[in-house]
Amino acid sequence: MTMRTTTLDLIMGQVAVRNPGEPEFLQAVREVFSSVVPVVEANPVYRRMKVLERLVEPERVVIFRVPWVDDMGNIQVNRGYRVEMCSAIGPFQGGLRFHPSVNLSIMKFLAFEQVFRNSLTCLPLGGAKGGADFDPKGKSDMEVMRFCQSFMSELYRNIGSTVDVVTSGLGVSGREIGYLFGMYKKLSGQFSGAITNKGIGWGGSMLRPEAAGFGVIYFIEDMLKRMQDSLDSKRVVISGSGNVAQHAAKKAISLGAKVLTMSDSSGMIYDPDGIDDDKLDWIMELKNLRRGRISEYVKEFDTAEYTPGGTPWNVPCDIAIPAATQNELSLEDAKALIQNGVAVVAEAADMPCMPEAIYEFMRHRILFAPSKAVNAGGVAASGLEMSQNASHESWSLEEIDQRLRRIMQSIHQACVRYGRSEDGFINYVRGANVAGFVKVADAMVDQGIV
Ligand code: NDP
Repeated sequence: MTMRTTTLDLIMGQVAVRNPGEPEFLQAVREVFSSVVPVVEANPVYRRMKVLERLVEPERVVIFRVPWVDDMGNIQVNRGYRVEMCSAIGPFQGGLRFHPSVNLSIMKFLAFEQVFRNSLTCLPLGGAKGGADFDPKGKSDMEVMRFCQSFMSELYRNIGSTVDVVTSGLGVSGREIGYLFGMYKKLSGQFSGAITNKGIGWGGSMLRPEAAGFGVIYFIEDMLKRMQDSLDSKRVVISGSGNVAQHAAKKAISLGAKVLTMSDSSGMIYDPDGIDDDKLDWIMELKNLRRGRISEYVKEFDTAEYTPGGTPWNVPCDIAIPAATQNELSLEDAKALIQNGVAVVAEAADMPCMPEAIYEFMRHRILFAPSKAVNAGGVAASGLEMSQNASHESWSLEEIDQRLRRIMQSIHQACVRYGRSEDGFINYVRGANVAGFVKVADAMVDQGIV
């Protein structure tokens, strides 16, 4: 056993004892620490200042009751969370997730990841995450509104534009942000940048809804450019059909790629002719306005196939983009993708690939982009919205797109700088982890034991 393994195992043992029953959190910590333990070993100050031990302990966790009344007059009770993980480089910032699977482990894994994602963007933002075990699916607008108001009636005490900034995420998009912001404004008496992804007409930024998905494709573009290649004519499979999946598909199509699949939690559609702009508009209307199921696609476009419960990972492709949820791509899926010739895998969702799948991609020298780097476009745009709110400005779409492009480029460069292997292969996982870690660790050292 090497010295490196010993240190990692020792730390992970301590983290496991202190956080029982939190598998997703342990998975996320192990993934980051596997890369950064050698950096800590090479820098005794990090060790002396117990940077790793402090990083895995959230600065604050708030768990609260969210009672609300449904349309039938029944009282419902959900559980709300805000995990404020680390504010070493700026005020806490991170999205909200409304999904029945939400629990403390998932909140902590997402908050932990957010610390390094935010650091990578080079914006002065700490990391946090919040949410509730509430399922917006099948709820009326008024039910969603009552839930959001109850959720915010507690959360408002903890957030603020220089304290903790919340934004959208899985199950939380424009509608939910509107209701959350309305209640925050009423309770705090402030029209401020404490919440981002606001509507364009009331403090929101151009391109915020598109940013996470567009950023994914910008990052892939840079990966391919390094290999003297481009997205043109590439076959792309995407999972999910929510915000990130839709906008990744949109940008990929605009750059000449052929998008073959999309999915939701019920199943997957495969369109051998490719999902073009018109078909994607139809999907966006289906998902965002009618709140329908992806299965309806095959009734509208009869060249496509629908597989109930299916995932896209058996469809031959050049680029795979898991954009739905955590741990949605297994070792078996990775083997199928490799067998079918995949060249690039980009984690648009948070931690969608299981550790064994990532290991398999690395082993086969597949270009693999981890979520904290490739999906940082959302946080980048959230940071740009905060800047506009603070300076009472509103930047043009072109200006924001250019800034987003530059941020994604600099994240890619940081990954290449820290992730280059001796044979020239870029280990983007190591690159993203180390680049994100060093800045946070240095700030923690500078600020003393707090
Ligand atoms: P949405 O809620 O808009 O969409 C989520 C999509 O994933 C839906 O199609 C949903 O299907 C599907 N899905 C959810 N759970 C499962 C499951 N267990 N199995 C299969 N499909 C599932 O979320 P976003 O697009 O905003 O987020 C997707 C991912 O990207 C998440 O991991 C999120 O944390 C991450 N992310 C989001 C950012 C943002 O700005 N929005 C920024 C960075 C990361 P269904 O409709 O059936 O629920």
